[in-house]
Amino acid sequence: MALRKVIIIGSGPAGYTAAIYTARANLNPLMLSGTAPGGQLLLTTMVENFPGFSEGIMGPDLMETLRKQAEKFGAEVLQRDAGKVAFKNHPFTAYTEDSSYQAETIIIATGANARLLNVPGESKFLGYGVSTCATCDGAFYRGKEVAVLGGGDSAMEEAVFLTHFATKVTVIHRRDILRASKIMQERARSNSKIHWLLNTIVEEVYGDSKAKGLKLRHSQNGKTSELGVDGIFIAIGHDPNTGIFRGQIDLDNQNYIIADKNVFTNIPGVFACGDAVDHRYRQAITAAGYGCMAALEAERYLQSLTA
Ligand code: NAP
Repeated sequence: MALRKVIIIGSGPAGYTAAIYTARANLNPLMLSGTAPGGQLLLTTMVENFPGFSEGIMGPDLMETLRKQAEKFGAEVLQRDAGKVAFKNHPFTAYTEDSSYQAETIIIATGANARLLNVPGESKFLGYGVSTCATCDGAFYRGKEVAVLGGGDSAMEEAVFLTHFATKVTVIHRRDILRASKIMQERARSNSKIHWLLNTIVEEVYGDSKAKGLKLRHSQNGKTSELGVDGIFIAIGHDPNTGIFRGQIDLDNQNYIIADKNVFTNIPGVFACGDAVDHRYRQAITAAGYGCMAALEAERYLQSLTA
């Protein structure tokens, strides 16, 4: 097995951008893209906020374009999951089910997944009336009615943001007490466009070609009801895909990678970027930016090995 200069683990906007930069720096990167490459943008339809596409671009098409761009400059994309890593010894090793790969630097770009409710209809309508990102999709709901699911800071933030477009925003939370910080709650509660359905469990997303509404059940009295809405925003948290790095690099108490200046992990030569690190912005373009930073730092690190 030849020793590589760079292995990139993960294939969202962060990973592909790191691949483009390291490939153009003649570092011949190997990307372990995962068996379902492309990251969260595969679950979206139209992306209108990625600079450079004035007419917008479908999420899967954007990822395909990024992959082609990386391969054009010599990145090798291997459609395998990294199941294990060993960062204690240099060079570093990444293991797939049937092989292992060694490199002088590693760039982690494994991203995060939005938590889902796992109720009927939810996955079917993802990208068709069901969204996990108000910043990305809010503008599609100008003059419409939407629901936000969740009771944390993200739900409050998304609900307030959505009032810039929607005529009515209903926050649906499974308990009567919100988890959100006081200030975020107050901001949402003082907004007259925001309505509340507390102690309410979502049982199903219904619709035809697009989501049309939610079937609900009151958590105390069991009463069922329906809420017709044009858009449904799920804001119940995210889980970073960092399980394989536990014990190898430092993670915070929510399993995000702890990275100094966004990209330096506690292991010199192991860099991280994108949503596996970033729980604040979570945008394709910020992930791409961090991917660029990680690639430039990996290049610098490799230069320092030969200096
Ligand atoms: P979070 O704080 O974990 O809240 C998740 C919410 O979703 C909770 O209200 C939870 O209900 C609900 N939930 C979870 N699983 C559910 C399920 N299966 N069905 C129904 N409801 C479910 O997540 P977050 O709001 O994304 O925030 C994550 C972190 O980022 C927090 O530390 C937060 O403070 C921070 N954040 C800060 C800001 C800001 O300051 N501007 C903005 C966004 C996020 P329960 O309450 O019943 O558990």
